[in-house]
Amino acid sequence: MTKKKMIISQETMDVDFVRKVEALAGTSVRSCFQCGKCSAGCPMATFMEHPPNRIMRLLQLGQWQRVLAGRSIWYCVSCETCTTRCPNTVDLASIMDALRKLSWDSDGASKESYVQLANKLFLQNIRTYGRQYEMRLAAVFNVKSGQFLKDLMLGPKLIAKGKLKVFHSKNKNMSEIEKIFTRIEEMRKKGVAL
Ligand code: SF4
Ligand code: SF4
Repeated sequence: MTKKKMIISQETMDVDFVRKVEALAGTSVRSCFQCGKCSAGCPMATFMEHPPNRIMRLLQLGQWQRVLAGRSIWYCVSCETCTTRCPNTVDLASIMDALRKLSWDSDGASKESYVQLANKLFLQNIRTYGRQYEMRLAAVFNVKSGQFLKDLMLGPKLIAKGKLKVFHSKNKNMSEIEKIFTRIEEMRKKGVAL
């Protein structure tokens, strides 16, 4: 990730975004006093360009584009260590969930992260086939991410070992799967699910 100079001014601060995150997550971003206990315990912090406490600070400063443009929110594994450790009862794991939802809805804000693309394709496969179709997932992911030859040589080995199926059948209960997706969409519209 290329480092960009951060300009903090009334124009660059977006307090409305923080309010949106707080409403979705049901917790306060503004309560964070930067003790760093969340980052100290986070098992994924070393892989993130912005560890959890820095995400909180960036949000407080209204720098949400910087947060959504990075990979950190997609590296979070929802283990809730941060939430458990926070002395100020900030539910940071829920804030991460809310940020992923907002990134998802903004469709492309997280351009640097392939995790978002992989998640979308994963769910599309489940909705279409009722189960995961790894061959299709890998092929479409490679095309959409522009990495056409990624892991290409692994394919034949996995097929030979029976770990990857070339042909795939649909789940017999597709109508039930569709009902689940429709219900979740309705809940999201009502704001009762992320
Ligand atoms: S929930 Fe996410 S941010 Fe919090 S400690 Fe776990 S991995 Fe880190
Ligand atoms: S543990 Fe809580 S108060 Fe401390 S930096 Fe993390 S979110 Fe902020």
